[in-house]
Amino acid sequence: MDNYRHKGLRRRLINTLIEKGITQERILQVMNQIPRHLFLDSAFADQAYLDKALPIAKDQTISQPYTVAVQTQLIDPQTEDRILEIGTGSGYQAAILSQLCKKIYSIERHEQLYTNTTLLLKKLGYTKVITLLGDGYLGSPRHAPFDKILITAGADEIPSALLIQLKVNGKMVIPIGDGEVKVMKTITKISDTEYTEEVHGQFRFVPFLKGTT
Ligand code: SAH
Repeated sequence: MDNYRHKGLRRRLINTLIEKGITQERILQVMNQIPRHLFLDSAFADQAYLDKALPIAKDQTISQPYTVAVQTQLIDPQTEDRILEIGTGSGYQAAILSQLCKKIYSIERHEQLYTNTTLLLKKLGYTKVITLLGDGYLGSPRHAPFDKILITAGADEIPSALLIQLKVNGKMVIPIGDGEVKVMKTITKISDTEYTEEVHGQFRFVPFLKGTT
């Protein structure tokens, strides 16, 4: 489960995140509480508190803790926010957001990941996460509009369906670009048809792919 050794390693990881420039105390606090090792296959559990992306099922990865922290800071979760996450993967990012907002809807395209992670989140008690199986390019019209949308796979275009599902004054965080290295962008919807954009450095992500499997 979660013992003193894990807690100590987690504290060290938090110090690394602070050294790398993460400043928001409430995000650091939540990351200090969430047992990342339980979101990994046991073969990788001893690496859970290194600041490293690690493999999960279906050739996917759990994002590097620093990347998770940056994306969480940029999405700036508020207690009343309903947030859509694209790319449930291990469920780690969704678990973090769930401690900082009202409700999180998280879409995964791999059925096996969706099934395993849904069970895990339930077992660990993260009841504010609603997992959905589907193509994130389409979002979830049924649950829209969202205050915030976070994309945790590397996109080569901004999905227009997701812009529509964002509230006015809502914000999207999306790693985007042509190659393997993506630029982190925040897009703010300032009216039904107008958006502003900011750029926040380069990150690596597994690809945002169309369709489900
Ligand atoms: N947030 C995850 C990161 C997982 S990596 C975590 O904390 O572990 C990105 C995930 O996005 C992968 O699981 C991948 O299968 C998923 N993905 C890629 N394209 C997708 C799409 N179109 N719809 C939904 N999920 C997608």
